[in-house]
Amino acid sequence: MNTPHPDRMHRAGSKTEKMLNLAFEYSKKRLLDPEIPLDKPSSASELKRLAGPTITEHGIGAHQALNIFEHVLAPACISVDHPNYLSFIPTAPTKAAEIFDMIVGASSVYGGSWLEGSGAVYAENEVLGWLAREIGFPETAGGVFLQGGTLGNLSALVAARETARKQRTLPDGKRWVVLCSQESHASITAAAHIMDIKVCAISPGDNGSLCADDVKDAFETYGDAVFAVVATAGTTNFGIVDDIASFATLKQTHSFWLHIDGAYGLAAILCKKTQTLFAGIEHADSIIVDPHKWLFAPFDACALIYRCPEQGRLAHTQRAEYLASLTETHLWNPSDYGVQLTRRARGLPLWFSLATHGVAAYREAITYCIDLAHEVAVHIEKTPWLRLVRPPELSVVVFEREGWTKEDYERWSSTLLETQVAFVNPSSHQGRPNTRFAFINPRTKLESALKLLESMKS
Ligand SMILES: *Cc1c(COP(=O)(O)O)cnc(C)c1O
Repeated sequence: MNTPHPDRMHRAGSKTEKMLNLAFEYSKKRLLDPEIPLDKPSSASELKRLAGPTITEHGIGAHQALNIFEHVLAPACISVDHPNYLSFIPTAPTKAAEIFDMIVGASSVYGGSWLEGSGAVYAENEVLGWLAREIGFPETAGGVFLQGGTLGNLSALVAARETARKQRTLPDGKRWVVLCSQESHASITAAAHIMDIKVCAISPGDNGSLCADDVKDAFETYGDAVFAVVATAGTTNFGIVDDIASFATLKQTHSFWLHIDGAYGLAAILCKKTQTLFAGIEHADSIIVDPHKWLFAPFDACALIYRCPEQGRLAHTQRAEYLASLTETHLWNPSDYGVQLTRRARGLPLWFSLATHGVAAYREAITYCIDLAHEVAVHIEKTPWLRLVRPPELSVVVFEREGWTKEDYERWSSTLLETQVAFVNPSSHQGRPNTRFAFINPRTKLESALKLLESMKS
């Protein structure tokens, strides 16, 4: 008769060691591969055919499961860190950050409270403190690493509305209003929907940068109901920074919370050439930046920082008998600053990489991407059959191929992926099809980008 061993999955023994060696071997191969494959999506039926049944009553064993991952599943995931992945906003984690992510995975750290995770929370706060200094926030600023920019924006807006509610009430039937640019990220509208507030998205004019003058009419229309303005510090589509300084000035005469959505672009505050684009940011009430975008951390992490963290805490602390031992202390609990309770210490990979390499290495890597974007833009301007849609500000270049329809862009894009050359998505602006290169990977070469332009010639 079999004796039950309910702890057999948890015991550290020779089987664990074998599994660990397999995992190390795989991770080592992936992390040391100088030319990672781009890979491409597959269909569910094809994956089913190749992988076979994986969830069974008695398990297929680590060897087989890892084999399926390596040869079937991983090749069906596009390598977001591939140097020629230029779609959306890619990611390019440093080796140090990726390696430390493995350590976080091995450590069962609870990052929600000081009581449970003080060491991890301390290190995360070191990173947030450094970011706050780069921005020009006061020493007392603070925040939390959340899963992503969507939750960061939502958490900041919830804190903003909570703060407004303490100052004023709205007449019955009136909804709170958040102002932002029409070019702001979809997550602002998503947050407004969740919060049941009105979002008033204003056209930023031709250059794509929203300024205080653009929102004055909306203040006239909605008055006191406007509780927040979201300025985008690097739009997702164009990488354009709104006129933050003008909103900082507007705060002197109007009462609202200024939130800066820098999920992609705020990293460029670390580069001397682009730093001035963010002038006035020190007057914001909250900011977000996604380390999994342009601060070279693995998925998934968003840094949310409040000028006055108490406002975040008052909006977000969850209260219950079973949480009293956490909330009745005056300790710093990251869970108090966003929409979440249990949390992975997801700021640690960035902490380790920053601690290892220092800030200067980050400045260099970010500057490289900005220079690359500007060099590519110069080439586009010199090429008669290409047209820049707007000059780049940060590291996104949006351009058109003369005479191309949506279908032409689609055909070109799928050929690039099919032939494993690059992942560049078709896009559009004001109904005109185009494409864009988003450069956030310091391993992307100018030469490769120019070859991609050349491939559009015929
Ligand atoms: C990517 C992005 C977001 C959303 O961030 P996620 O991490 O994808 O949730 C929000 N705002 C801007 C400007 C972005 O570029």
